[in-house]
Amino acid sequence: MRRLFRRSILWLLPVVVAPLGALLVMQYKTLRSLESKSASAQRNWLRNSLEIATDEVEDRYRHDSAAALTIPAAELPDVTTLGHHFARHHVSGARTYFAMRFSGNMYETGYFDSRGKEKLPMEGEAEAVKMATVSWHVAHKWNRIVPQPGLFVDERESEHRVILRPVIDPSMHVVGAVGVVLDEALSREAMLEIATPILHKRSPESKLLIGAYIPRTSGGRDLISQPLGFVFTNWRAGIRDMCMSPEEVAAADFRHNAMWTGGAFFVLLGAVALAIGAVMRQTRLSQMKSDFVSNVSHELRTPLSSIRVFGEYMRLGRVTQADKVREYGEYIEAESRRLTALINNILDFSKIESAEKQYRFCDADVTDLVERTVAAFAVPLRDQNVVIAFHPPAAPPPLLRVDKDALGQALVNLLDNAIKYSNGTNEIDVRVTASRDSVRISVRDHGIGIPVVEHKKIFEKFYRAGSGLVHDVKGSGLGLSIVQHVAQAHGGRVEVESAAGEGSTFTIVLPGGGQAILPVRTGEIACPPLRRENA
Ligand code: ADP
Repeated sequence: MRRLFRRSILWLLPVVVAPLGALLVMQYKTLRSLESKSASAQRNWLRNSLEIATDEVEDRYRHDSAAALTIPAAELPDVTTLGHHFARHHVSGARTYFAMRFSGNMYETGYFDSRGKEKLPMEGEAEAVKMATVSWHVAHKWNRIVPQPGLFVDERESEHRVILRPVIDPSMHVVGAVGVVLDEALSREAMLEIATPILHKRSPESKLLIGAYIPRTSGGRDLISQPLGFVFTNWRAGIRDMCMSPEEVAAADFRHNAMWTGGAFFVLLGAVALAIGAVMRQTRLSQMKSDFVSNVSHELRTPLSSIRVFGEYMRLGRVTQADKVREYGEYIEAESRRLTALINNILDFSKIESAEKQYRFCDADVTDLVERTVAAFAVPLRDQNVVIAFHPPAAPPPLLRVDKDALGQALVNLLDNAIKYSNGTNEIDVRVTASRDSVRISVRDHGIGIPVVEHKKIFEKFYRAGSGLVHDVKGSGLGLSIVQHVAQAHGGRVEVESAAGEGSTFTIVLPGGGQAILPVRTGEIACPPLRRENA
């Protein structure tokens, strides 16, 4: 009972626990994803992502401008060095770099493109630059001391936004200014280039918009937006809110739950069906085992009591005629042979079950082996009108590597069944046929036959076909499972042709030189030299 329980548990593990575990994991993942898609969670996440992206844009502008607009006062008059400098330090979205040198009320300005080449300012650029630098020019004229000036942004002319830094000489007086004029289109492109990868890493479906005007909604969704810092401060960066509406969340939730609940239901249904199947199989097996015990005890007891009775007769001297003594002796011999066969089957079965069965393969003449086995089997049946006809093959087949004892025992099992289930028709044909790649040993009877539905099951251990006729005959239910094991150990198989009431033909098919299809233990023995008598 405990073994049955343990086996059922082993069954339940893969069929119930594993699918349920998988379902739980999937359900957990779904809930987590729903949670992350919930309106507020997603909105917070997007807002946070947008903040990180705009911070990065701001940092990049500050950092690049600081590098491009840091120039020692001594270099200010030298336009060539400045050109090289601007060519090496680029500010994203820059259209024109400029350097201005103050000299009293006068000033001189040089303009450069992004490759550091001198150029003329665009329309409006010179005015924007003048407007941005005028207060530093005044500071120059008034000789003001300016300690460590930073970057200044002038966005009064929105088409020509200027970032500039005053140039200070060692005495901390302003001697000029360097700066960059930003282009709106180039800057938008540059900002999108900086921010998009950061956003996509955090929220792959998000769509970023940057500009002076950001709509409140886009594609039916609210837009989350925030102003830019440092430069383009009247612009906003906006991100489309991909989060679901509460109705959508509820619908998705319902869909997922319905799906997983349905899945769980079917998995459980399947598991219950499998568990019931397993329990039924186990019950059938234990029923078969108890039948086996009662059948085997009967099988053992019957020949033993015959042997005892005949032995007693002979010991008491009740039989004196020579032919009677021989007859009783033959009975005793035949019954003990049956006992030996039965005990061999049981021993073999237990070895097969515990994987201890060893086969000893030697080259053998299969025809000779079959003929001898049939002859020995027929001796005790002489007086029972049993006719066992042996049909050798037309040409002797090649020698095969076989375990003679195991093959002989398999054949005895088939012959024994042919007699047991002959239903009074005592004609049996044993045939050996050989083809190019196999040797077939078949045993044909004209007995009760086997319904086609039973053909597979009769090879199971302890299985006995269900017909009433079979139950009149005692048996262990082990014979055919041993025959099949022996055939498979030789790399072969057992075939059955039969129908109810029409007799049966069992054939052991041995491959010419095939591999064993069961992992069998083979014993090392010295094979006796082979003599082929009829060769
Ligand atoms: P046993 O004969 O001891 O019951 P076997 O394993 O040899 O066990 O056979 C299993 C079942 O196959 C038998 O119970 C019987 O129903 C069926 N069977 C085997 N051989 C024959 C046969 N020659 N004719 C009819 N039925 C057979």
